[in-house]
Order: sequence, then structure tokens, then C-alpha cells
Amino acid sequence: MPAINTALGPVEAADLGYTLSHEHVGTNAAGLRHTYPEFIDRAGIIEQSTAALKEAYAEGLRTIVDVSTFDLGRDIGMIAQVARQSGVNIVVATGNHLAVPRPFGDVSPDVIAPMYVREIEQGIEDTGVKAAVIKVASDRGGITPPQEVVLRAAARAHLQTGAPISTHTWSPDRVGEQQVAILEEEGADLNRVYIGHSNDDTDLDYLLGLLNKGVWLGLDRYPGGRVPGTPDWEQRTEVAKRLMDAGYTHRIMLSHDYSVPKARHGAEVQEERRRANPDGYNFISRMVLPRLRELGATEGDIQQIMVENPRRFFGGE
Ligand SMILES: [Zn+2]
Repeated sequence: MPAINTALGPVEAADLGYTLSHEHVGTNAAGLRHTYPEFIDRAGIIEQSTAALKEAYAEGLRTIVDVSTFDLGRDIGMIAQVARQSGVNIVVATGNHLAVPRPFGDVSPDVIAPMYVREIEQGIEDTGVKAAVIKVASDRGGITPPQEVVLRAAARAHLQTGAPISTHTWSPDRVGEQQVAILEEEGADLNRVYIGHSNDDTDLDYLLGLLNKGVWLGLDRYPGGRVPGTPDWEQRTEVAKRLMDAGYTHRIMLSHDYSVPKARHGAEVQEERRRANPDGYNFISRMVLPRLRELGATEGDIQQIMVENPRRFFGGE
């Protein structure tokens, strides 16, 4: 069995257990924690995230994949501390989110790829913590030129290291198709590609087209409903069941894209976020899985989606 690097070192793939494939301990922006640390309530985030993950651990959660990147203010020390205090394994990421540093847009992907490789093979900053997944992002309107540079760099780092790729997309604009086209052009193994945020829309034609290409789908925004016009959690769950009925139980993963409300957001925003998802990392186990069972999913199906699929995808089986 392969081992997967996490914030606290390697974990056997077989021991990942119940896994949420796309989450965050806390997100900010590049450089803030060094230059304007007073903007970040680091102690508060550690305390709240630890509490939220402990609660989820008690209900069966064993692993989260934290796909925060450099430009999301990734703080490996904070993530490692939360992993240690909560008991939940946290897999961490290299790559970039939407705010690609401007100079990255001016260079060849071959300049960027070795930096991702270094974070996978040697570790991130001075922590020794190794990334086990490469995150890339594109959003409304499609892939911008700087985002294309890092997408190609991600493919090259993946080819060199074997690490899987996890994407952020905007599915109403079918952005996953554009990502797959570029990754294919780069020769990436589509069996090692996870197209994320694929449940912001209910277009089965788009989703089945991606699955037929051979990628995995992350139905990893729950409960949803924060963006007007996107599906609510019940519609998202119906889409999951329709993909299962179409024969893709072995190719989908569920997650929330959750992070704890930050003190710097102010009381009103924090309250709104708590109302939107009072269950945090437990929303899927408390609401979505029971609904899937009502719709006819078996315990075997649920084990496949929440345990076996993450083990196979992140473990590189
Ligand atoms: Zn995310």
C-alpha cells in the first residue's frame, strides 16, 4: 500500500479512512501572515478549526485534504498544529489558486513546475512538510493567461512526481472542459486529475462528458446556496445520485470547501456563515449521506465515495 504525505508525515493510504477531499483550515492571501499578521486571528482560527475537526473526528472523519495554496495564505505551521490537536490527518497542497502571483504569468511553465516539485519532494518553506496534491484554479469566464501558465506547470510537476492534480472550477461556465483540454495537451494522466467544484451546476451532460474523459469529479461544495442561482444542497445531492446511477460511484468524492468563520470578518459575516452551514465539516455526514440513503444508496456506495475513492485517488493506486 502506498503512503501519503500529510502535515504530520506519511500515512498509509489504507489508514486515511473517511476523507473530505476539498477543505480548508483557514484561507487568506499571500504574504499577509508575514507583513500584516494583525489582520489574521491565527490563534482564533487554530482554536475554532481544532474544535470543528475534533467534533467531526468524533463523528467518523479521519482525513481532510486542505487545498490552500501560497496565494491563499497557506500556513503550514497552523495546519500542522490543527492536525496535531484534532487528530485528523491533513493532506496539504502545492500549486496556485486564482490569485496567481503576477510575475508567474510572464514566465514559462518550466520555471514554475520545479518549485511545485520541490514542495512535493523536499517540503514547504522550512517546515519539512511535503505537499501530496497540486492545486490549480480557474473561474468564471475560463482560464486566464497566468492561470494557464500554472495549469501547465501543474501538469509538468504531476508528470515528474506522480502527484495528483485537484482543480477549482466554475462549472456553470463548463471551465472543467477547458482545464481537461490543456492537461490532455500536456500529457497528464487524467486518472490523476480531480475536477473540483463540479456541483455548482446540475448539467449532467457536462459532468458525464468529464467523467467519460477519465477524470474524477469533486462534488465538493456543500451545503452551497451562497451564490445566488446555484443549486441548494438537496439538488446537489440529487446530482450525486444521478451520477451514481449512471455508473460513476467509483469516480466521485464529496466535500464542503469549508473553513471556520474568521474573527476579522466581523460578527455579521460570521453569523451569516454559521447560518449557511451550522454543521461545518459534519454537514455531509449529518445531512447528505442520510439523504443519499433515502434515495437508495447502499452502505457500500457510501464507503466507496467517502473512503475508497479518496484512498485510490490520493494514494495513486
Ligand atoms: Zn476551496
